[in-house]
Amino acid sequence: MANANVRVRFCPSPTGNPHVGLVRTALFNWAFARHHGGTLVFRIEDTDAARDSEESYQQLLDAMRWLGLDWDEGPEVGGPHAPYRQSQRMDIYKDVARKLLDAGYAYPCYCTTEELDARREAARAAGKPSGYDGQCRTLTDEQKAAYEREGRSHIVRFRMPDEATTFTDLVRGEITVQAENVTDYGIVRANGAPLYTLVNPVDDALMEITHVLRGEDLLSSTPRQIALYKALIELGVAKTIPQFGHLPYVMGEGNKKLSKRDPQASLNLYRERGFLRDGLLNYLSLLGWSLSADQDLFSMDEMVAAFDIKDVNANPARFDLKKAEAINADHIRRLDVKTFAEACEPWLNAPHANWAPENFDRAAWEAIAPHAQTRLTVLSDITANVDFLFLDEPVEDEASWTKAMKEGSDALLRTAREKLAEAEWNADALKAAVVAAGEEHGLKLGKAQAPVRVAVTGRTVGLPLFESLEILGRERTLARVDAALAKLAG
Ligand code: GLU
Ligand code: ZN
Repeated sequence: MANANVRVRFCPSPTGNPHVGLVRTALFNWAFARHHGGTLVFRIEDTDAARDSEESYQQLLDAMRWLGLDWDEGPEVGGPHAPYRQSQRMDIYKDVARKLLDAGYAYPCYCTTEELDARREAARAAGKPSGYDGQCRTLTDEQKAAYEREGRSHIVRFRMPDEATTFTDLVRGEITVQAENVTDYGIVRANGAPLYTLVNPVDDALMEITHVLRGEDLLSSTPRQIALYKALIELGVAKTIPQFGHLPYVMGEGNKKLSKRDPQASLNLYRERGFLRDGLLNYLSLLGWSLSADQDLFSMDEMVAAFDIKDVNANPARFDLKKAEAINADHIRRLDVKTFAEACEPWLNAPHANWAPENFDRAAWEAIAPHAQTRLTVLSDITANVDFLFLDEPVEDEASWTKAMKEGSDALLRTAREKLAEAEWNADALKAAVVAAGEEHGLKLGKAQAPVRVAVTGRTVGLPLFESLEILGRERTLARVDAALAKLAG
């Protein structure tokens, strides 16, 4: 059932280049919001000045725009909870931290890193839990004052309740975490800077997020956040605790988690190779979800209509580049030819194409486009498939030349040249000419056309040959066959 009150968020930190794991999270939140007619909040978690960058922030916005994952509140669109960049919300976090301290939900911890390390080691050696041991939980005002006089600084720690946390994960079902596994944790650094552990749930509360859908790697922070939420509700900062759903891990090569540093994980790679937005999103949605058991291929409209977080699979998903390419190829087939031709434009001219812009011939492109559309996997492959039309001379691919030009190829090519020169210039007649030339030399079509293809296009593989020759035209075709004959004559 639709629920327009749904408010979800996509809240990346602007570090590094956008990667496919991030896109999968954005996509599931977007699909959930759109399915319900609810709200997608886009929030930038940029409180770590040492790691965040403006460039990465711009790339995130650009990626979301390219993917067509639109947001209802956030950067550039604004909204009732602005600002949506955490770096601009520091006063809010200070205020909440103060309230938590005043009410005793949090306390100053004066332990130095060395002290903490030493006690952790000792606990480990004794086989005890090695999280924070609660030493500063009960400091008196005198003790605090004494630490201050010593010149010690303090962080702020959240006081975890001494009870187990149970919650129902929308993907994984009921989860219980025992108290000893979640110890008191830092929420404000010694220099006063608030930590992710504070700002993320505080903003989810203030922005009235109803569902937190995020990667499984964040599952361990959920019991802490639920406890913090309860305190925020007591303090009147939060209204309710959101529901949580943790999306499955994405595994890469060798059954290791796909790392954001893995080249296969970079969103830019897919853009540069010419993945379609819908092809990429369709594939990424399969990392944990599917429309139905027997349908891998669907549009984003179909996904939005069907998406339910409860259908997400908890098991790790395997990232499979071949499958991503196959899905993308299917999406290319689905375009109408005009849209396909337009989508290829960036690869038909500078900076990707290696022919002069004035060599580009739109009529030839429109004629060849339907033949290319049924064969491409990614749009960037178009350049090599049609360059024979726009280069003054075909590419010289030595491997193709060696493979196609065998003993007797010169004789075959001479016969083919004669028959092509006499043929009517259409694909059927050109095919008949090469078939006839082959027969004279005892060669089947496949063998007979290989030297012709290499002479004209430079390569052994490509688009349907006779349509290609028809579009290239009589004069240029014959000139290329002549050039090949001259080369063979050495
Ligand atoms: N900024 C956090 C991250 O990128 C968000 C985590 C969350 O979704 O709660 O890991
Ligand atoms: Zn302490």
